[in-house]
Amino acid sequence: MNPPWFYAILACPDCQHELIVNSAGASCPACGFSNQPLADLRPQNPHPLTLSLARKSDLDPAQQLQVIETSPPSPGYHGPRAQHRDSTQFMSIIADYFKRPTRVLDLGCGPRDQEIPIRALGHEYVGVDICSTTADFLADAHALPFKTASVDCILTYAVLLALRNPVVALSEIERVLKPGGLYLGTISQGEPFLVSYFHMTAWGLLSLIDATPSLRVTRLWAANDTLSSLSRWGGYSKVIKQALGVLNWVNTTFPFLTPRKMLWPKKAREIDALHRAGSIAFVVQKISELRN
Ligand SMILES: [Zn+2]
Repeated sequence: MNPPWFYAILACPDCQHELIVNSAGASCPACGFSNQPLADLRPQNPHPLTLSLARKSDLDPAQQLQVIETSPPSPGYHGPRAQHRDSTQFMSIIADYFKRPTRVLDLGCGPRDQEIPIRALGHEYVGVDICSTTADFLADAHALPFKTASVDCILTYAVLLALRNPVVALSEIERVLKPGGLYLGTISQGEPFLVSYFHMTAWGLLSLIDATPSLRVTRLWAANDTLSSLSRWGGYSKVIKQALGVLNWVNTTFPFLTPRKMLWPKKAREIDALHRAGSIAFVVQKISELRN
């Protein structure tokens, strides 16, 4: 029986040296990392990560929102859907961007329900998680057990908020992604019922990505409105959630309640929706040439 495809791209989570992997487990000849069985590739004694961070930024987030795409992608994917978290919009982007089979890393995969649409598109799937027993193996986003530039696409669906240090995790995502690859995901903004280290605004995400030299945000859009999120998952009583649902319905059905906004151009309304979003979806590209 052939080993899984992802054995070839594994690296030591402690020192990033190539791992010796077989069905019994994994070991690193450079630093002594070893695990039996393979199911746990979380770091044991990770080497310190040295980051070079700029103390000055030319980022103007309001201006950048004017330049990047802020509308949802048009639906181009009509295959089977993920069971828990609908990712049709992301799959439409992946179907449009990757014309040949590619390697997709589902980081923080939970019940790995993105495997169904990813495989339907003909791509290779590997799902890792800090604790999910259905993951291909356990991994920590702050010390990814993958070789540099080894995957074409990374998904983090509602994951960044749960990471204790998104700067470190983003530098790992940047390292593992191939030049030209895509990083797709969602961040929570107006979802206070989710326990997190860091909820994020659109400006916050733009700032974090701006500090990551080879990553660029190409698209941000409001995945849902805060009222909608609160009415569905807010953790309130059923009556309160129903009342919030009515408010959300009124808000979306009667735009003339805010007559000034009806006169705004489409771009201004999209950016307004971003600032009121429960969660924000993003598309980030790894560029081939570093910025100066
Ligand atoms: Zn090692």
